[in-house]
Amino acid sequence: MAVLPILIYPNKTLKIPSSKVPQVDENISLLIKNMTETMYDHKGCVGLAAPQVGYNLRIMVVDASKHKKTTLCHNLIVFINPVITKKEGAIIIREGCLSVPDYTGNVKRATKVTVNGLDGNSNPQEITTEGFEAIVLQHEIDHLDGYLFIDRVASLKRDIFRRKKYQ
Ligand SMILES: [Zn+2]
Repeated sequence: MAVLPILIYPNKTLKIPSSKVPQVDENISLLIKNMTETMYDHKGCVGLAAPQVGYNLRIMVVDASKHKKTTLCHNLIVFINPVITKKEGAIIIREGCLSVPDYTGNVKRATKVTVNGLDGNSNPQEITTEGFEAIVLQHEIDHLDGYLFIDRVASLKRDIFRRKKYQ
C-alpha cells in the first residue's frame, strides 16, 4: 500500500469527467487500497476521488465517521461507478477539498441522497444517507464529473474564503 500524491487545482485531470470502471481487477483493487490509505493519511480528510490521485476513473472512498458534523454514517464506503438516484432537500454548507488547499466555499447540496453503484468487491451497493455524509458523497461524485466545489458556489466573490487554519 502507498500514500499517493494529491493533484492540486488547476491540474487538468481534476477537470475531466472520469470513465466508468469496466471491471474490478487487481489494479483497481490496489488503487482502492492506496486511495483509502491516502485518505486516512490526511487528518480531517473525509473522502477522496480517483481523479485527485491522477486516475480519471469513477472510484471514490469516503469515511465521515470521525467528523464532528456527522450524524448518520456508514464508516468506510468504497464506491465504484456511483450514481445519485434520489435527492431530497437543500442546504448551503461550507466545503473544503485536498485539491483546493487554500480555500473553502459555500456550496448548495441536497440534504439526503441515495447512491447506487458497486462496492470494492464489485457487488451492487445502494446507500441512503443524510447530513454531512450525504454532502461528502455529493462532493466526491462531483470530482468524478470534473467539478470542484469552486465550480458550485453561487458567487466567486461572496462564497469563497481563504483558509485561516488547516486541519
Ligand atoms: Zn474534494
